[in-house]
Amino acid sequence: MSILRVAIDIPLPRLFDYSSDDALPEDVGRCVRVPFGSGEKIGVITALTLNSDQAADKIKPVREILRSLPTLPADWLALTKFCSHYYQYPLGAVMAMALPPHLRRGKTPRRRAPSSAATTPTRAQTPQPKLLPEQAGAVDTVAAKFGQYAAFLLHGITGSGKTEVYLRLIEKLLAQGRQALMLVPEIALTPQLEARVAGRFPDARVVSAHSGVADAVRARGFLDALEGHADILLGTRLAVFTPLPRLGLIVVDEEHDASFKQQEGLRYSARDVAVWRAHQLGIPILLGSATPSLETFYHARQDGGRYHLLELTQRAVAEAPPAVRCVDTRREKLQDGMSAVLLAAIEARLERAEQSLIFLNRRGYAPVLCCPACAWVSRCRRCAANLVVHLADQRLRCHHCGFETAIPKHCPECGNLDIHPFGRGTQRLEESLSARFPTARILRVDRDSASTPAKWQAILETIHGGRADILIGTQMLAKGHDFPILTLVGVVGADAALFAADFRAPERLFSQLMQVGGRSGRALLPGEVLIQTEYPAHPLYQALVTHDYARFATTQLAERRAAGFPPFTFQALLRAEATRLEDAVDFLKLAAKHARTIATEQISLYDPVPMRIQRIMTMERAQLLVESTNRPALQNFLAAWSDRLYTIKMARSLRWHLDVDPLEF
Ligand code: ADP
Ligand code: ZN
Ligand code: ZN
Repeated sequence: MSILRVAIDIPLPRLFDYSSDDALPEDVGRCVRVPFGSGEKIGVITALTLNSDQAADKIKPVREILRSLPTLPADWLALTKFCSHYYQYPLGAVMAMALPPHLRRGKTPRRRAPSSAATTPTRAQTPQPKLLPEQAGAVDTVAAKFGQYAAFLLHGITGSGKTEVYLRLIEKLLAQGRQALMLVPEIALTPQLEARVAGRFPDARVVSAHSGVADAVRARGFLDALEGHADILLGTRLAVFTPLPRLGLIVVDEEHDASFKQQEGLRYSARDVAVWRAHQLGIPILLGSATPSLETFYHARQDGGRYHLLELTQRAVAEAPPAVRCVDTRREKLQDGMSAVLLAAIEARLERAEQSLIFLNRRGYAPVLCCPACAWVSRCRRCAANLVVHLADQRLRCHHCGFETAIPKHCPECGNLDIHPFGRGTQRLEESLSARFPTARILRVDRDSASTPAKWQAILETIHGGRADILIGTQMLAKGHDFPILTLVGVVGADAALFAADFRAPERLFSQLMQVGGRSGRALLPGEVLIQTEYPAHPLYQALVTHDYARFATTQLAERRAAGFPPFTFQALLRAEATRLEDAVDFLKLAAKHARTIATEQISLYDPVPMRIQRIMTMERAQLLVESTNRPALQNFLAAWSDRLYTIKMARSLRWHLDVDPLEF
């Protein structure tokens, strides 16, 4: 009789032992049906042992080892173990998340149909352009590292031919009989991209994996990948967990995109997990972006850095980048948030039957207080962050270190009484645009209007078909689509991001504006970007005007270094949610007490921050930041801390989680 150590999807960081008479060493990695409590659960066998820490009479026999399902390979078990450890999340829950829903429930997937929707064997090969010298150089450099770990950053503006580089590398890889994994942001995975990949490789089996794929199809695709039938796996963040026995290259396109980070459950970064996986398997990984995340850029720019930098400095197609200009809104009176310059530019587009996009930067930035008279901004006295306005209890709070103070009645610098949070005045934009341009067809594009892939597809068709004149959009429209008659991008409300409490806000703003600018002026019509701002001389806008990402990134990195923010430090947040804010804060105070007993001097602990966010569920939230300049030290601390957190009695009566490398504060 042997003991099986089984990972089960429950919210506790432990494995469970069961006995079996007929288990074999090769059953490790198999799904198993086990009794649990008064019911039954499906788990994954992580090890076969002879001894157990559990009392012998507590060890129950397994019900069934599910041998009709394929075995999850050892490298997959190692990958999920790494994630469990790194993100402080129970292994059984990691595995459940990494498996398609069908397999998670122990359901045997259908046999592979020859023309299954997820696998697209095509015949129409599309012709290949001749590579530009920089593209060819990038392909050769990466291909030279096939068969060993190496991480590359492919930095090039939209249209510089990055995707072409990926496709050439995949072609070389397939010729060696290996598999490729290509990860793209959620919104970028359109039928167009699938068709482009499938069209280039008519004899390859291309499998798509994203949240829009039906469960049964996803399970089939997962098995095709695992059994080595799939050649190319194209997917969003969840695809990073697909087992691929012949994997030879990982591509992460738009690597800076926030959708690679899961914001619930296992809060993993698919990009970071992909890098770990490439290292584990000894294969190259290529991260591509026009505006890399500062973390990635930092690794690529350091001498002897962890990533190799490959740059594409030219456009593959002969097009000038759009002309970017700032409209100084201190000098003119705005009409419902819009300047006369911008209104005139829209009018000119309407006359020429071209499209305009009004880009609203409304990404829920926590409001920061400012003085329009002297440009004073509410800053934290204890650290480098900006203070956030909490109107509910009239406080200013630092979301970073927990410092708080009352909202001042007047500007502490100049005495002005009219101080207010950034980012007002864009709410009624749609109404005022339709009042001003009554015959224009106005299309709003945001998370609500594009809530399903079908709706999103319909919106794209409306734009492409020229059936909209003015688009009003948020960051959704910034990504990966060419709109041939869109020639004007107006940016309003962007200044809020310059002084947001979230230190990543300028990075996001820059990348969105670069991307959204790239939407304008494709084909033969030149594009124009007008940014309404009270700070036209701000380095971020200046770098946009000159299309100079490196300059922007270099100044940002200098600021981050001075402030001690990532990538110069590593962070984790403990968040708690409860119906009463006091409970969430009390839990964090207890957690902080435990933390102080185990933290070494390499760990910085801050104060809990009550968030008091009014939400549908009327849940209140509080958070606590921990930091270290030493990642292993932080990891060790988190492991010990997390063990203690589970022992706190209060932990069972509210919701809490750890977010390692958090992206949002
Ligand atoms: P990116 O991924 O950087 O936005 P793409 O690879 O999609 O760029 O290239 C943009 C456009 O230029 C595509 O239509 C592509 O087919 C074309 N293209 C890419 N490389 C070349 C090349 N070397 N010669 C001609 N056209 C190219
Ligand atoms: Zn002032
Ligand atoms: Zn602070």
